[in-house]
Amino acid sequence: MHNDRLSGVVDRSRLDEAVGAPVLTGRVDRVRARLGDAGADALLVTTPENIRWLTGFTGSAGLLLVTAGGAVLTTDGRYRTQAAEQLADAGVADAVDLAIGGVEAQLTVLGTALVGHARLGLESGNVTWSAMRSWAARWPEVELVPTDGVVTELRMVKDGWEIDRMVRAAAIADAALASVTDLLTGDRDMGTTELAVAAALDHAMRELGAEDRAFETIVASGPNAAKPHARPTGRRIEVGDPVVVDFGAMFDGYRSDMTRTFSVGRPPEGEMARVFEVVAASQRAGVASVRPGERAGEIDRVCRDVIAEAGWADRFEHGTGHGVGLDIHEAPSVGPGSTANLSPGVVVTVEPGVYLAGLGGVRIEDTLVVTADGSRTLTEFPKEVVL
Ligand code: ZN
Ligand code: ZN
Repeated sequence: MHNDRLSGVVDRSRLDEAVGAPVLTGRVDRVRARLGDAGADALLVTTPENIRWLTGFTGSAGLLLVTAGGAVLTTDGRYRTQAAEQLADAGVADAVDLAIGGVEAQLTVLGTALVGHARLGLESGNVTWSAMRSWAARWPEVELVPTDGVVTELRMVKDGWEIDRMVRAAAIADAALASVTDLLTGDRDMGTTELAVAAALDHAMRELGAEDRAFETIVASGPNAAKPHARPTGRRIEVGDPVVVDFGAMFDGYRSDMTRTFSVGRPPEGEMARVFEVVAASQRAGVASVRPGERAGEIDRVCRDVIAEAGWADRFEHGTGHGVGLDIHEAPSVGPGSTANLSPGVVVTVEPGVYLAGLGGVRIEDTLVVTADGSRTLTEFPKEVVL
């Protein structure tokens, strides 16, 4: 059985769309403007994705100090050339000083830049207890204060060039899935396992230009589909199985996230047929409610209501979605009571699911960007159920 039917409707031209050059100018200033509200007069940025968002630097080790009058990025000699190039490419070489050296030398540079500052904000979700203790001992004249979301709240609204990268990541994932549907439905004399499908997807994404997968690919078949975050196993996929495929690609640091659930070889039957219908209706309702001015919690409520009406409120035990960008899970969360406001440029997933232990489960997920008058879905793979 060949699935030209599905692969043919994936728009591969999106794989060739131009991506705009990154422009990071002004971001450090926007962080500086938020320091007062955070109760600090300087901020030590330690989260690698936040450092990347502010400076373009992608190294695995670095500290970025934003002070009242400047900013300095410190890292070690491995990144001497790379850091200078990335700051220049990002257009922030004038706004961010670069200091290269060992740990001691880096802390000396930061200490000098901190002179005259009273309250140093730390990213409370990222700093270890031992790091905090060591900085407190080294800089006794500065009060260390916990901060939360100073950079990540700014990251919620994506620039056009960031959306370009997320479109490419989604296009890569769409094309990769189209390339493995034959594996799911084809000659299974040898048996196709969840692991084999996951490996083929990961390989296809790399071949299509992904620098990595966005997260560990989920392929969950039969009863495994009832586990929302199942890891692929050696289980052979059988005709009639539901198969949840949840995966994404990473392109120039930005990620995609998509879930499709298929019924292999024949339509779903009995209770599972109803699960497919209800989750699809819930997901459509959620997608339709993504618009500027809406609260994230409202998207969750809309999805949850459809599933509750069908009697499965207690079988939808995770949030409806999350922000995506440099991280696979970032602000805003889309769950019960989420108060974040959806404004143009915010990227969220909508991914309701129903899971019946022992029988199977269905989850359908798209990644959407909020536009001026509604939303645009980045993940375009068809939602046909029967493979
Ligand atoms: Zn996902
Ligand atoms: Zn997701």
